[in-house]
Amino acid sequence: MALQILQLLKMLPRTNCGDCGYQTCMAFATHVLREGEDPARCPHFAPDKLKLVQETLKHQEEAGITAFPEHFISAKQHVIDKIRDYDLAALAPFLGARCERRQGEEVLVLRLLNRLYAVGKQEVTALDGEEQDIWEHVLLYNYIAQACRRPLSGKWLAMGELPGALAKKKAFEEGCEDKIARAYTGRPAALRTALAGLEATFPAMETNAELHAVFYPLPRVPFLLLFWDADLEDGFPAKVKIMFDETVLCFLDIESLVFLGEKTADCLVAAS
Ligand code: SF4
Repeated sequence: MALQILQLLKMLPRTNCGDCGYQTCMAFATHVLREGEDPARCPHFAPDKLKLVQETLKHQEEAGITAFPEHFISAKQHVIDKIRDYDLAALAPFLGARCERRQGEEVLVLRLLNRLYAVGKQEVTALDGEEQDIWEHVLLYNYIAQACRRPLSGKWLAMGELPGALAKKKAFEEGCEDKIARAYTGRPAALRTALAGLEATFPAMETNAELHAVFYPLPRVPFLLLFWDADLEDGFPAKVKIMFDETVLCFLDIESLVFLGEKTADCLVAAS
């Protein structure tokens, strides 16, 4: 099995001193394992641990083992290529991001669920310095690459009503809606608290749901979540339905939207 990011992180000094050129030891570990960065670039690596890592990586390379799947490299490179000529400062307000310079590079700082990321034209950094799901990088790049400048319409549509999205309806139900419903069966107050943690609002709205909330997993991608608790007498399980602004596919492709739903469910389930 390939050396994992957390295993490498445990061998590093974990002082986040930045002497390697990365802001955190986590970012450095990620680049060593995912981008082929030289582990010797950390000048504070204990020699015996550095030797162990170098030998492990050499052995993995000879055995054709990689912690970094080829399909990810090509997916990430594809979206990076798309934004290469973008004017990030001009685009920022349309994406709900702010444009900053960090370490000499222009980046977009934006929120994905409950975490802030700095997205540059080559790299993504989680500003909390914690471990990152590399597919989140592809999601963030896809969002930026769409470069949608349309205002939100305020009209809500279900996944099955979005153009060309019918085939993804079941995947979205299983990967997102059903997971949230199971985690919060009999616990609407707990769901409300978890949603408040995602800065949800609970506007007055005509629905027959027990709970409804609007929140923004990405700054221009609002979700309207509707929750009906289980009806034990009639034997109905709890149900969650998520609706999208009708512009959503201008901001994200359908695959990314399904993935965003899965990340949202993971986040809410973790808070349950
Ligand atoms: S130089 Fe080493 S200790 Fe300092 S941030 Fe980089 S990896 Fe961490």
